[in-house]
Amino acid sequence: MPSLKHTGNKLFDPQVQLKYLETHINGLNVFDQDLTASGLSPLKPRSLDVLQINVGKVCNQSCHHCHVDAAPDRKESMTTETFQQCLDVVRKNKFSMVDITGGAPELNPNFRWFVSELKKLKVNILVRCNLTIINSHKRFSDLPEFYAENNVEVIASMPYFTKNRTDSQRGDGVFESSIHALQMLNAVGYGMEGSDLRLNLVYNPSGAFLPGDQLALEQQFKKELFDRFSINFNNLYCITNLPISRFLNYLITSGNYQNYMEKLSSSFNPVAAQNVMCREMISVGWDGSLYDCDFNQMLELGVDLESISHISEYDHTALIGRNIRTNQHCYGCTAGTGSSCGGSVV
Ligand code: SF4
Ligand code: SF4
Repeated sequence: MPSLKHTGNKLFDPQVQLKYLETHINGLNVFDQDLTASGLSPLKPRSLDVLQINVGKVCNQSCHHCHVDAAPDRKESMTTETFQQCLDVVRKNKFSMVDITGGAPELNPNFRWFVSELKKLKVNILVRCNLTIINSHKRFSDLPEFYAENNVEVIASMPYFTKNRTDSQRGDGVFESSIHALQMLNAVGYGMEGSDLRLNLVYNPSGAFLPGDQLALEQQFKKELFDRFSINFNNLYCITNLPISRFLNYLITSGNYQNYMEKLSSSFNPVAAQNVMCREMISVGWDGSLYDCDFNQMLELGVDLESISHISEYDHTALIGRNIRTNQHCYGCTAGTGSSCGGSVV
């Protein structure tokens, strides 16, 4: 699938996406009403523990559900200067975790240097890896060793334990390549009993439905991946598809938009809303712009502060006092048991 941006599809325009989101649950914007009724409006941060950095939109894949609209032909990539500004912020502030995402973050030419610099700062490092990058070219085949040397936690996309469902969502050949990559990660200790090297998998539904029970799915994935391919991993995170970017395009073109939004909004869970990930993190875009989360980043909803919009202007006190910008896409994080980059939140 080519990226929406390059097809000239108007739905790529964040303003058009927001218009859909704001008016298409029976013509109402109801998320803020639900938040108010739960005593959570305006939504405020509880801490700033995680710095999530999106290092670019370039990817070796073009998955159907991608909320980043990433693809091989995208050009957006974080520069050395912006990476340096991120390092300065990590050096001066207390984050428990730096969470690196993309695109395929490994395709940014500064990726390995940045990870090595973070290691010197003794902060936990998490990389969101699409797995296939490891087998995409011989220059990436030592990534498992590189991750292990830097004690990186790996979160890897794995939509299902069968070829058909995986390839239909992520592209032909993705399943086999992913299985091989998982075996390579296991071979250096990732996900193995007694090892500190953590390997977590991410499952997201292949259509317009909410994920099932996270624990039950984890047990099923563990059994199937071990029985079929001798693969081990630590945890499975279930993530709800948010109605933005390519998934929004799919919902609208397939006629599922209204039903999906009603499904999400009728499953609003105030406890999940209390635990949404934006209350503990700040998100940096490839150009250094600051957002409440990766999803607001794709909708170009920058942090709600007049004086701060870029990582070079980072001010911990001001950012922790900000109001988080919400809209109807936030139902994706608050439906049922909730959803975050680390899976269910309830
Ligand atoms: S691998 Fe991830 S970033 Fe790349 S296209 Fe697929 S979902 Fe998007
Ligand atoms: S999409 Fe989720 S993480 Fe982002 S602002 Fe809304 S509730 Fe928070």
